[in-house]
Amino acid sequence: MNVLFLVSEAYPLAKTGGLGDMAGSLPVALHRQGLDVRLMLPGYPDVRDRTADHAAPIDMGDPFGVGTVRILPARIAQNDLPVYIVDCPPLFERPGGLYEETPGVGWADNHIRFALFNRVAAEFCLTQPDGFLPDILHGHDWQAGMAAAYMAFSGVPHGTRKVFTIHNIQYQGIFGPEILGDIGLPPESFSIGGVEFYGQVSFLKSGIYFADLITTVSPTYAQEIRGPEGAWGLDGLLNARAPQLEGILNGIDTDIWNPAADPLLPAVFHADDLVGKAHCKMELQKELGLDIEPHTPLLGTVTRLTDQKGADLILDSLDRMVDMGAQIAILGAGEPWFNEAYRDRIGSRPGRLAIQVGYDEALSHRIQAGADAFLIPSRSEPCGLTQMYAMRYGTLPIARRVGGLADTVKDIGFADGNGFQFTHLTADEVSFAAWRAVEAYMKAPGRWRMAQRQGMLTDFSWDNAARRYIELYRRLV
Ligand code: ADP
Repeated sequence: MNVLFLVSEAYPLAKTGGLGDMAGSLPVALHRQGLDVRLMLPGYPDVRDRTADHAAPIDMGDPFGVGTVRILPARIAQNDLPVYIVDCPPLFERPGGLYEETPGVGWADNHIRFALFNRVAAEFCLTQPDGFLPDILHGHDWQAGMAAAYMAFSGVPHGTRKVFTIHNIQYQGIFGPEILGDIGLPPESFSIGGVEFYGQVSFLKSGIYFADLITTVSPTYAQEIRGPEGAWGLDGLLNARAPQLEGILNGIDTDIWNPAADPLLPAVFHADDLVGKAHCKMELQKELGLDIEPHTPLLGTVTRLTDQKGADLILDSLDRMVDMGAQIAILGAGEPWFNEAYRDRIGSRPGRLAIQVGYDEALSHRIQAGADAFLIPSRSEPCGLTQMYAMRYGTLPIARRVGGLADTVKDIGFADGNGFQFTHLTADEVSFAAWRAVEAYMKAPGRWRMAQRQGMLTDFSWDNAARRYIELYRRLV
């Protein structure tokens, strides 16, 4: 079975969040189970620089009059997967973020950038310029939502079936109707049976509408996005398509996130021997300027600083958590006002509170390993990876009961609990959950150890999810 994975980021080439993690790992797991999976990615400089074995470019013309487009077939050296790079320097070769010019400000031509990316993918499926015929086009998030529309309105008969995965329904890729001409879609595509969404053009709606099967990244989120609160306007369509909608829990890359062999850690450890974890904690306290106290509960978090992640709730709970005796280590970056608000707190509780505003892959591993518990007060959480990384590193999640967090974290009140859960979105609840963790850490070390083991021994690998995706693909072809 041939699968073309159409995605706007993939670790280790380009990553802004969980989407990149998934696109870096699921194809590898699918490949291990015998599928010919190839990625198609925009030609950001990093993607070009970090790939190997570049073959002769395939000329795709200049469909939007913005510059010549070529597909560069290449390979990801780390996992040997083939990747097709959609090369169009005027659109993708620029400094700044993958989607944003500056934090919080999307590129003004994002509609052109990702429409072109999708259009090339559609043409690739229809004309097979490399001799690779995708049985399945698997698109991810709004940046890949238009490909199926281009195929539908091309009038060209084709056998490629479409799977579309929603990683986060809040990001929809909505633009004014005037872009339709610029992105080369016919006027009749602007309808309820096309790319139109409340008078605008929506990439995400298009992806959902034209998919043969729709997936999202956890069973609970698959339910939540059908309700008025979780659907961001798409509940009507998603309820109509409910028979084709499935929630498949993401896995994690257990080679990269392996406390027993993580080269980014000062010491390694495993479920039966946590001496290395204590060492990681001490080194983290040193690195971040926290008081070196082995028996003080250290709460960590690594997150985008956004409303969705509850960055405001953490901020409002900081002092209470420090006052109850915890140390806190935060690594995050996101919306400019949050970046500022967190920067303002740097140095406010010396030795107790450490904040780094920025993106740092290596430090994220050291926090996961060195912390005792991990805060995740998300308003919504499609799947969430950091709670799974935390559990694997013997760090108990303190997580809101929502989306994929509800599917993976179980409160320590249960015999097989692996963390702390709470429901309401208030700083009081976050603080109370943190207090429960602090109390358990200090007063019930045996119980703590059991919950740690529970998490560390859970199989979070991609193999289960890969099997589920293969079942879906088989249903279609
Ligand atoms: P989302 O994709 O919504 O941001 P996930 O929990 O699914 O949330 O994935 C977040 C990923 O991004 C994790 O791998 C996490 O470690 C990483 N991450 C988030 N913020 C940072 C940061 N500031 N520095 C390093 N890694 C980060």
